[in-house]
Amino acid sequence: MVFGRKHKNPIKIADKGVVEWKYTTCGYCSTGCSIEVGLDQRGAAVASRGVAGADVNRGKLCIKGIFEHELFGSDGRGKVPLVRDSHLDKFVETGWDGALDKVGNEIKRLQSQYGRDSFAIISTGQIMTEEFYTLGKLARGAIGTNNYCGNTTLCMASAVSGYKRSFGSDGPPGCYDDFEHTECLLAFGSNLPEQHPIIFWRLKMALEQRKFPVIVVDPRVTMFAQMADMHLPITPGTDMVLLNALAHVILKEGLADQAYIDAHTTGISEFSSLVEQYDPFTASQICGIDEDTIRNVARLYAQAGAAMTIWTMGINQSTHGTDGVVAINNLNIITGNVGKPGGTSLSITGQANAMGTREWSSCSGLPGYRYLEKEEDRADIAKFWGIDPEFFPKQRGLTMTDILPAIETGQIKGLWLVATNPMTSMPNTPRIRKTLEKLEFLVVQDAYRDVETNEYSHVYLPAAVWAEKQGVFTNTERRVNLVRNVIKPHADSKPDFWIFNQVAKRFAGERTIPNFPETTEAAFEEMKQLSKGRMLDYSGLSYAMLEAQKGVQWPCTEGAATGSPRLYTDGKFQHADGKARLIPLPYVENNERPDEAYPFWLNSGRVVEHFHTRTRTGKLGNLNKFSPTPYMEMNPDAARTLGIAHGSYARLSTRRGDAVVMVQLTQRVPRNMVFIPFHFHECVNRLTLGLLDPYSRQPAYKQCAVKVEAAADQQAAAERNTAARAY
Ligand code: SF4
Repeated sequence: MVFGRKHKNPIKIADKGVVEWKYTTCGYCSTGCSIEVGLDQRGAAVASRGVAGADVNRGKLCIKGIFEHELFGSDGRGKVPLVRDSHLDKFVETGWDGALDKVGNEIKRLQSQYGRDSFAIISTGQIMTEEFYTLGKLARGAIGTNNYCGNTTLCMASAVSGYKRSFGSDGPPGCYDDFEHTECLLAFGSNLPEQHPIIFWRLKMALEQRKFPVIVVDPRVTMFAQMADMHLPITPGTDMVLLNALAHVILKEGLADQAYIDAHTTGISEFSSLVEQYDPFTASQICGIDEDTIRNVARLYAQAGAAMTIWTMGINQSTHGTDGVVAINNLNIITGNVGKPGGTSLSITGQANAMGTREWSSCSGLPGYRYLEKEEDRADIAKFWGIDPEFFPKQRGLTMTDILPAIETGQIKGLWLVATNPMTSMPNTPRIRKTLEKLEFLVVQDAYRDVETNEYSHVYLPAAVWAEKQGVFTNTERRVNLVRNVIKPHADSKPDFWIFNQVAKRFAGERTIPNFPETTEAAFEEMKQLSKGRMLDYSGLSYAMLEAQKGVQWPCTEGAATGSPRLYTDGKFQHADGKARLIPLPYVENNERPDEAYPFWLNSGRVVEHFHTRTRTGKLGNLNKFSPTPYMEMNPDAARTLGIAHGSYARLSTRRGDAVVMVQLTQRVPRNMVFIPFHFHECVNRLTLGLLDPYSRQPAYKQCAVKVEAAADQQAAAERNTAARAY
């Protein structure tokens, strides 16, 4: 009986006529929920449900997963390839052969005229791992451009660089099961309930079994901050100052795990000297957290039997993003919280398969966490692919955030965008528009013809989406899971895997190129062979095993019954000497800050209904209806002084551009800050500056200065806002 009611009305679920459920994995966020899609008698996808036996989600799905089957028939899908000579012309429909010939010929023309690296490729975190591996093989082994990167530079690049600096390799060492063992959770810049609802639910489940302190560091009173035991409203961009101060207290008060430091790390003496300068008082003046709180958190964390840190974009999207990640790793190294149940540094990844691209795409190196800079890694891959190792560059080329400026300067003449939408996602989009107009040749490969970037393309290739194809994703906790092909691709769209293979054929006559297997399962077999005996070991996996176990965590060695939940359990790291690095991190203030002309911090982030510039979620009724309108959170006291009312429209301006949004008054943001969801087109990224982190080249989306005023023409603003709701 619930709340004294004698009769519970049973929940009625409409009978959708499902005759078959097919196993797959959610294609939105990196939580990695197992989903079954229900097909009716006609073979149409009519329902989605969580898989009860899956360890990740245990039958649950968030609002995006529940309606994911609606994706297949959503508006704006591309049906056939389109071509035109100029972006000012109208598109003409064509067949696949004609479109792919044009792609191959234009790449060859540009490369022969301007050099191999004049053609760039920017991919995504959305496609399958086998597709990433194949695209990498095409870019590195057939086309031969070094300017190849992914939009993961906009979300997870700082985590990658930070892991590499501290531990010698990328690869999140922890897992969701750590919630069930930890005695203290510290979360930086992560609004878990909205960004990763099912990971949050796992945390809530753990807290119901056993109470432990949850400390949330975020400038905004997010949903996560509201449920935390302690909320630390930090000054934007100063996380590493707080982390240095926590380390200061821990070392000063003898709370560090000295045995772990002695056995498994290098650099303690330089690190100690640096953090000596960050006493709690000095740090409090910079990061805005009072000194007593700093001391309390340091003691709580260090004295817990096991403590863990999670983070998302609040750390990564900063000019100090990589340093912030290293500072988190430093904290966990000195407290011995790496590779043990409940003790870890766990980056919560963004896109469904951001991990897959990190592992296998060859964007920043070569497959399986290999480096272009290492001769033996180049030789390994060249031998396996049957090509000349001299064909590989000896160091990494431009990142996504450097490729776009290189178009402005004329260094890059042609671009291939795969499932990414820089017209909405890049900072300072007015500049990106001019950049794309300069290209001699732009290919857009996307499931949606109406993706904003397609306005500038010469060729549009319609791609299949999510479970219209087959392959694997890797989630935040290194769990590889299977996306079964549930339904055939929309109209004449094709799987990205097929498209890459067909483009490869256009280069076969030019030079000796690698073999491109016809099926994703055969590509997966290649990946297994290339990973055998390495930290990133897939050799024990198979599609059948992934489906049977509802996902398996790597490393999974050949013959193993299952995977491994944690990395570095033996204290051996991937640096040549096997030790983790303690790295001193001096803080340098280099952001744009609020001033008299632009007096507010501009903060941005995701809300639960949105994903990936709304190319998909903006089309689905149930998601779009809940959050259709470009809006801004503003503190009521700040709004009152400017004469701005709740529900009215405000104009925001920065040194880059302006945007008009609806005003939501809330105490979630402090007086000197406004917050805007980042997925709306022609909105927050017209304003952002996006200074780059020096290691990861990731933009600082969350820290710039903005002016706010009431929109002069409220009626026009309302009409513009209504128009934006259509998509
Ligand atoms: S939490 Fe993420 S993976 Fe799970 S259903 Fe929601 S969007 Fe999909």
